[in-house]
Amino acid sequence: MITTIDGLPPALAASVSPEEHAYVADIQRRGMLPFAVTPHFASLARPEKNDPIRRQFFPDPREAAFDPFALDDPLGENCYRAAPHLIHQYRNRALLLAARTCAGYCRHCFRRVWLTNAEPRPEGLSLFNQTVHEVNLQGPLDYLAEHGEIQEVLISGGDPLTLDNACLDSLFRGLRQVRPGIVLRVCTRMPITEPERFDSETIALLACFYPLKLAVHINHPQELSDPSRTALAVCVQAGIPVYVQTVLLRGINDDPRLLADLFGECLDMGMFPYYLFQMDLARGTAHFRVPLKEGIALYRELGALISGPGLPVYALDLPGGGGKIRLHEKSITGEAHTARGAAYSLQDTGGREWYYPVN
Ligand SMILES: *Cc1c(COP(=O)(O)O)cnc(C)c1O
Ligand code: SF4
Repeated sequence: MITTIDGLPPALAASVSPEEHAYVADIQRRGMLPFAVTPHFASLARPEKNDPIRRQFFPDPREAAFDPFALDDPLGENCYRAAPHLIHQYRNRALLLAARTCAGYCRHCFRRVWLTNAEPRPEGLSLFNQTVHEVNLQGPLDYLAEHGEIQEVLISGGDPLTLDNACLDSLFRGLRQVRPGIVLRVCTRMPITEPERFDSETIALLACFYPLKLAVHINHPQELSDPSRTALAVCVQAGIPVYVQTVLLRGINDDPRLLADLFGECLDMGMFPYYLFQMDLARGTAHFRVPLKEGIALYRELGALISGPGLPVYALDLPGGGGKIRLHEKSITGEAHTARGAAYSLQDTGGREWYYPVN
């Protein structure tokens, strides 16, 4: 894992400006999301400031800008915490925070508080060393045993593929023991950031826990390197359904033609484009936000460029805990001048109003 500017490929290291140097040097003291990237993901970046890969992993001094709308718990998940590390917001599915680290950090991450406050991993430990005892499973398992209405568990984090295979095996087994047949949805970015993680042993492990699906975070066609394509194709061929989740990122993928190419390629590979997410209001991410009205217009154009099964749902997790809603022209029900600034009002599925910034 690369965690210093000197560790980057030389051309990338040379592209770092004095402002960026100063920001990275200060990142820990400021309590910001750490800087870390895999050599593989760094190798996909060109040494230009606005390169779509570089921008996703290299810390940007704009992260320190004040954002009146920023929230430490952008999805309001603390309201739905059913057990330690278990979020139960929707009746028949729950989300387990099974890991507290990733194969590199995305600068747009909305779970940055969970990741930033984790114990730093000891020097010299490999990437896949984490054990579930960092995350106590008994509470979540007891809760699942008592709540028969839960039919699916999203296994998230962090990136659960940072757990080693023995750990994943015992995690999956534990879940299936309290609820035979429960659907497992493993949310990961590892096929993109560290495709070597998907060796034959890992694929066999995932395939043997059917019904298990992968939800893979992919934002840009440049991320689909040959090793990543191979890893994903092998999953598909092994009968593991792969869903694609994409975050709409300003200056990175906010272009309907680019997104049509991305989802078209994913579809051709046998994956299912699932969600295109409007940015959550995590601290330090405002410079990635596409204004809501622009996002809605872009999604409309995207719909005209792509076949039905290639079109993901454009969704927003309402800031503060309103849950996911689908975004379209009629989602915006009004405009308000809140204490934080100009905001649109949007309704959750129960008709309650929530706010999202105009810009
Ligand atoms: C997104 C999410 C889910 C899954 O919702 P789907 O509509 O099934 O994709 C479940 N729990 C939480 C807390 C979520 O944020
Ligand atoms: S992989 Fe997911 S959890 Fe990890 S930093 Fe990226 S967005 Fe956040």
